[in-house]
Amino acid sequence: MARIDANMQPVLWTAISKEPAFVDNQSRRDDYDIAVVGGGYTGLSIALHAAKAGQSVVLVEAGTIGCGASGRNGGFAVPHFPGGITAEDAIEALGKDRGERLARLVADGAALLFDQIRELGIQCDAEQNGWLQPAHSEKALAKVRRVYQSWQTRGVDAEWLGAGAVAERTGANGYLGGWFRKSGGTVNPYALALGLARAAQAKGADLNQETEVTGIRADGPARILQTTKGDIRARKVVFATNAYTPALYPGLAESVIPVLLYQGFTRRLSDPERRDILPTRICFTDLRKSGGFARYSPDDRLTFGGAVFRMGNRRTYGEMHGRNRLAELFPQLRDIRIESYWEGWCALTDSYLPAIQRLDQNVYSLMGFSTRGVVLAQTLGQEMALFLSEKKTEAEMPVRVGGVRPIALQRTKAFLGGFAFPIYQMRDALRLT
Ligand SMILES: Cc1cc2nc3c(=O)[nH]c(=O)nc-3n(C[C@H](O)[C@H](O)[C@H](O)COP(=O)(O)OP(=O)(O)OC[C@H]3O[C@@H](n4cnc5c(N)ncnc54)[C@H](O)[C@@H]3O)c2cc1C
Repeated sequence: MARIDANMQPVLWTAISKEPAFVDNQSRRDDYDIAVVGGGYTGLSIALHAAKAGQSVVLVEAGTIGCGASGRNGGFAVPHFPGGITAEDAIEALGKDRGERLARLVADGAALLFDQIRELGIQCDAEQNGWLQPAHSEKALAKVRRVYQSWQTRGVDAEWLGAGAVAERTGANGYLGGWFRKSGGTVNPYALALGLARAAQAKGADLNQETEVTGIRADGPARILQTTKGDIRARKVVFATNAYTPALYPGLAESVIPVLLYQGFTRRLSDPERRDILPTRICFTDLRKSGGFARYSPDDRLTFGGAVFRMGNRRTYGEMHGRNRLAELFPQLRDIRIESYWEGWCALTDSYLPAIQRLDQNVYSLMGFSTRGVVLAQTLGQEMALFLSEKKTEAEMPVRVGGVRPIALQRTKAFLGGFAFPIYQMRDALRLT
C-alpha cells in the first residue's frame, strides 16, 4: 500500500480532464466469473472486454481509478516497443509465434487504441498526429535504423527521415535522423482511464474504488478476495497491479522492478513559439536514458520527465533537468517556467516486455509494461480478457503464460534505480547511449 497515492491534485491531467468524474457502483453480486485487482489501463481493459464477452466482472481498486501510473503518465501512445527493442528481440525472448504475435499487437496497438477511444466516445483530447523516434547520437542512429528496418520487413508503414526532415517536423536541435509512424499520438492519460472505467461499468462490470485487496484464499475451485470492504468471490482472479503489486504470493512483488518516474509541464507556449516547435503537434521520444521527448498538452504546454533521483530535493532536481533538456532541444525556451510536477511508479521487467504469470489455479497477473503501457496495457489487457473468458487459449496468447518469475537481485536493482539518473545524464551527454 505504501506506494499507492490517491492524491491526484498535483497532476495536470486531472485539472484539464473533460471526462466526467467517475462514480463507482460497488459489488452487487455474491459471485463473479472474474475479479480484477487494479484500476489502471490493464485492469480496466480486462474488465471492459471480459464484460463485453459476457462475463460477470468485478474490479477492485485500492485508491481511485487511474491513481497509479495510468493517470500519471506522459500520455504518449507509441506504436513501438520500448526504446531500441525490435520484433527480433521479442522473438528471441518469446519464441517465433508469440514474438510475431506480440510484434503485431505493438505495431497495430496505437491505431487500435485511437479507434477504441472514438468508439467509446472517451473525452481524453486524443491527438493522433504521429510519433517519431529520433536519434541524438551516432550510436542511437544505428539503433533506430535497426528498429526501422525491422518494422519495414514486417510491412509496417514506418517512414525514414533524415536530419533535415526531423528538424522540420520537431523544431528540435541536434537530431541525426529518425523514423516516424502516423498512427501514434497523445492523450490525456487520466481522462482515458476515467473513460475506460465508464465504458466497463456501462458494459455491466462492477467497480469498487478505495477497496484494497489484502489477502486471497481458496473456496473449492473459487477464490475469495479479502478486501478492506469485505470478501469478494470469483471463479478467476487477475492482478493488474503493475509497480504497486502487493506481496500476496511468494515472488510476485519481485517479478517487476518498480521505478519512480516524474513528469511535468511548462507554462503555455505562445502562438509564435508553437509555429516553430512541433508545428504539426506530433510527439517524439528518443533513446536518451535521461528522457528526451516532447509533446503538447491539450492546453499547449510542453512536457518533461525522467527517473526520480532520490536524494536532496527531488522536485528541484527534476525541474532543473527538465529546463536543461528543453533548452538543449529548443534553445529559444531557455529558463522556461515550469508549472507542474508529479511522480508515479512504473514497472520494468528484465526483458522490458510484460508477462502473464499463473499464481495459482485460476489466479493470474499481467504486468511489467515499462514505459509503453498507454497502448500495450490496453491491447494486452483485451487479449487477457479473451483468455480469461475462454475465447482464446494459452497457445494463442501473444506472451507466455508461465509461473511466477522473480527477478534476480530485484530489491538491489530497485534500490539502485533511485540513484541512477545522474549516471544516465552523464552517459547521454557523452553520447554513449
Ligand atoms: C511518470 C510516468 C510516465 C509514463 N509515461 C508513459 C507514456 O508516455 N507512454 C506509455 O505508454 N507509458 C508511460 N508510462 C507507463 C504507463 O503509465 C504504465 O505502463 C501503465 O499505466 C500501466 O498500467 P497498469 O494498469 O498496468 O498499472 P497502474 O496504472 O499503475 O495501475 C495499477 C493499480 O493497481 C492498484 N492496486 C495495487 N495494489 C492493489 C491492491 N492490493 N488492491 C487494489 N488495488 C491495488 C493501484 O492503486 C493502481 O491504481 C509512464 C509511467 C509513469 C509512472
